[in-house]
Amino acid sequence: MPQGTLFIVSAPSGAGKTTLVRELIESLDGIQVSVSHTTRAQREGEVDGVNYHFVAVAEFEAMIARGEFFEHARVFDNFYGTARPAVEALLGAGQDVILEIDWQGARQVREQMPDAVSIFILPPSRDELERRLASRGTDEHAIIARRMRDAVSEMSHYDEYDYLVINDDFTTALRELQSLVISRRLSLERMREAHGPLLQGLLS
Ligand code: 5GP
Repeated sequence: MPQGTLFIVSAPSGAGKTTLVRELIESLDGIQVSVSHTTRAQREGEVDGVNYHFVAVAEFEAMIARGEFFEHARVFDNFYGTARPAVEALLGAGQDVILEIDWQGARQVREQMPDAVSIFILPPSRDELERRLASRGTDEHAIIARRMRDAVSEMSHYDEYDYLVINDDFTTALRELQSLVISRRLSLERMREAHGPLLQGLLS
């Protein structure tokens, strides 16, 4: 069974990453998103085990101590991490897997898996980012300014990634993400694994 590809997707809050990734996995077969563990509070509408595995800090620390994380990081005020077994099982079963993680996690994954494909999603402009961050339930200037600072801090790492997608028009950005996944599936290495007998037969 050919191994799946690991995709790392990072973005600042407000770039539209979660919606894009959800549409991406709905539009293609054979690709799944890894469900991270986090210590942050569950938001309204989020489902435990679907959006995240919500755990207490003590449990998160115990998982670190047991070496269960593929990568983990403190992102702003909370801990986030990707548990190793689930990702390895999916890749081993030939599924492509998306990790929606921050730049710190992306660095850890690249070190362990240099073949991982990393993608950074950017907003189309600073003004548009500010507008998107301001429409998230509060008008308070200090909160929006803080979100902007956090977003700029995440975006400052864009040049550590293999691919950049600018989410101006949603449909275009989605098509670009689909193209990245599909082109990886058509790489010589993956095609050899998936179609060995065909390739041999064509030459015999
Ligand atoms: P949020 O709390 O808004 O869902 O996510 C905040 C940030 O944490 C985002 O940048 C997201 O990519 C990052 N994040 C989510 N899950 C993980 C994870 O498992 N590992 C790492 N390193 N970052 C994560």
